[in-house]
Amino acid sequence: MMLNVPVNEPLFSGNEKKYLNECIDTGWISSEGPFVGRFETGMADLCGRKHGIAVCNGSVALDVALQALELPPNSEVIMPSFTIISCASAIIRAGCTPVLIDSDALTWNMDVSQVESKVTSKTKAIMAVHLYGLPVEMQPLMEIAAKYDLKVIEDAAEEIGQKCDGIPCGSFGNVSCFSFYPNKHVTTGEGGMILCDDNELYEKCRSLRNLCFIPERRFVHRELGYNFRISNIQAALGVAQLEKIEATLRKKRYIGARYQELLNGVKGLQLPLPKTVYAENLYWVFGILLDECISGDAKEFEKRLQARGVGTRPFFWPMHEQPVFQKQGLFSGEHYPVAENLARKGFYIPSGLALTDEQIEYVAAQVKAVVEELS
Ligand SMILES: *Cc1c(COP(=O)(O)O)cnc(C)c1O
Repeated sequence: MMLNVPVNEPLFSGNEKKYLNECIDTGWISSEGPFVGRFETGMADLCGRKHGIAVCNGSVALDVALQALELPPNSEVIMPSFTIISCASAIIRAGCTPVLIDSDALTWNMDVSQVESKVTSKTKAIMAVHLYGLPVEMQPLMEIAAKYDLKVIEDAAEEIGQKCDGIPCGSFGNVSCFSFYPNKHVTTGEGGMILCDDNELYEKCRSLRNLCFIPERRFVHRELGYNFRISNIQAALGVAQLEKIEATLRKKRYIGARYQELLNGVKGLQLPLPKTVYAENLYWVFGILLDECISGDAKEFEKRLQARGVGTRPFFWPMHEQPVFQKQGLFSGEHYPVAENLARKGFYIPSGLALTDEQIEYVAAQVKAVVEELS
């Protein structure tokens, strides 16, 4: 029997409806409502940070974070090539230049051993992006940042609740950013957040989020900001989702462990690392990388899975191969072979919180069937 398994289905099993009703009943729907502050405090507490600044999505969280740091014009910011475009666009919009690093072939995160060789006199910051369920190896990265006096921007969108050496992801950066898109561990539909400890950075982020209004006289501005505010309605969802974060993380780990059992040893597939010395995989999504035993690329494999009712998403496409950046003359002639392979041979299978045991087993069986077809 064919099942239809979407790549992600969110789960609203807590106080979501109750809190949404509170918004309607009290009339507090804008960013002025009380759930915004509660959500900010909740996320800051989860990560052991002093301040949270909620915004309308994760991409603009990165924009605000970069602009709040006020790096000198044309500063170089080191980042992985293999990530979402929001990381690079935030650096560029802040007047800085992204400098790329290849990925580690096993963790799929930025290869930290390559970072120091890219540091120049213009380097002012490093952006660490935790991907798919395993964090970037932060300890050596923080050592490099300290040695060269570099700021750290952390993109922890995919790893709410993850830890690196027992320290929460989202606590490492001078600024740390999150997204609450429906496939993230906490969702508000659309939403994002910046966490920091520095009071000045906090004020700067708040100001940029809200059009850089000044306290003395409303509608007078000394700088240009944005309306990147989040609504009380979105934050209400966030507060409810955050209350059950532990159950969410348990379910993610369960889904990942089941897929590992069911797909273990299947020839042609490189599965995610269950753990490294610094972290256990949280399986934000369950990625699969095809090796040379499988004919064709991820696109063909995904097409066949989709025909069997299994939703998939391709891996990221590396920054150095983005037409928009090539047009701008960025990264010309650069190659990052691990990132290029991930982009062509990698994809992920359903891992939403609503996934049932039956669906997990069905998905794994379909993956094995497609492996048979393409081996
Ligand atoms: C989801 C995500 C973002 C962007 O978040 P949006 O809320 O969709 O703008 C940024 N970085 C990473 C690593 C993400 O996974």
